[in-house]
Amino acid sequence: DQQERGELLKAYELVARVYRSILMNTAQGRDALSYLRTRGMSDELLETFQIGYAPNMWDALVKQLEKSGFKLPLMDQGGLVSAKSDGQGYVDKFRDRVMIPIHDAKGRVIAFGGRAMGDVQPKYLNSPESLLFHKSRSLYNLHRARAEIRKREQAVLFEGYFDVIRAWDAGVHHGVATMGTALTKEHAEALKRLTGEVVVCYDGDNAGQAAAYKSIAILEQAGLSVKIAMLEGGKDPDEYIAAYGKDRFVREIIEGAVTTTKFRLVYARRNVRLQDEADRLRYLRGAVKLISELASPIEREHYLRDLSSEFGISIETLKQDVAQHLLRKE
Ligand code: ATP
Ligand code: MN
Ligand code: MN
Ligand code: MN
Repeated sequence: DQQERGELLKAYELVARVYRSILMNTAQGRDALSYLRTRGMSDELLETFQIGYAPNMWDALVKQLEKSGFKLPLMDQGGLVSAKSDGQGYVDKFRDRVMIPIHDAKGRVIAFGGRAMGDVQPKYLNSPESLLFHKSRSLYNLHRARAEIRKREQAVLFEGYFDVIRAWDAGVHHGVATMGTALTKEHAEALKRLTGEVVVCYDGDNAGQAAAYKSIAILEQAGLSVKIAMLEGGKDPDEYIAAYGKDRFVREIIEGAVTTTKFRLVYARRNVRLQDEADRLRYLRGAVKLISELASPIEREHYLRDLSSEFGISIETLKQDVAQHLLRKE
């Protein structure tokens, strides 16, 4: 209820402050701070994103929360502490993790993403669903990005926290991310309330590209127009910026985002051996079918020209093929 929500919000605010201070001001936070430095995080970025550190202790939060008068069963429900298996008291939920606060639309902390630093599994531990946090509705960074999304009439959608943060550092201040879940209708509708266009900038690995493919229908269903920022070579945006720099990321990846048709054409050839004749023909037939589904003759011609020059097939022949597809549809 309302009162419990209020208590939990206060607790999250306190905890975010505690984690932040442990990272910046204590010896316990030293390794986490150097980890963040190796990931390119300046003090300014850490401040902007209120990043902190949960120490390697069982009861740092439990003690702090108790001292401040919070009720531990509610803190357990809220995902900050866990009941011990023997039922005798509580322990901290997050230990030895870099803590990334997740805010609601009003900028209040409602959850955390906790990043392990070594090869500890799971790599990310996110707060559970709670009175405050519903991951199928929340978008990371939306409260900071909202004004810029409106201004640019565009949002950029990432997969990960560090992608959003690094992109911010590169001047992309209209970026948000889902948090370990597939994009939902609710996410898309939240974006639609702010803008008409979304640039999907998912990881360049197979999983990321497959997720980007699936996101198109969800976003379009919400009435958004979609572009895809394609990262080839398996890097994610954070890794791309680390490797090639901010300017190239903005210029080539974000500003170079392609239409969904172009993306589908590239996607369709990812496992195709173009030197193999049968494979090449199969790709071409698939590509022509996809192009024939476009409503606009101008767009159809545009993509057919690309195919024509790449495969050395005349545009007339390609158009005949399209005509056959259109006939079959009638
Ligand atoms: P990093 O750069 O810190 O290694 P990442 O963001 O590149 O992390 P991915 O594996 O690409 O990590 O996952 C994308 C996002 O999915 C993460 O930012 C996180 O929100 C979520 N995620 C990843 N692994 C897990 C996990 N084990 N449990 C819950 N959420 C996860
Ligand atoms: Mn990934
Ligand atoms: Mn990633
Ligand atoms: Mn990454």
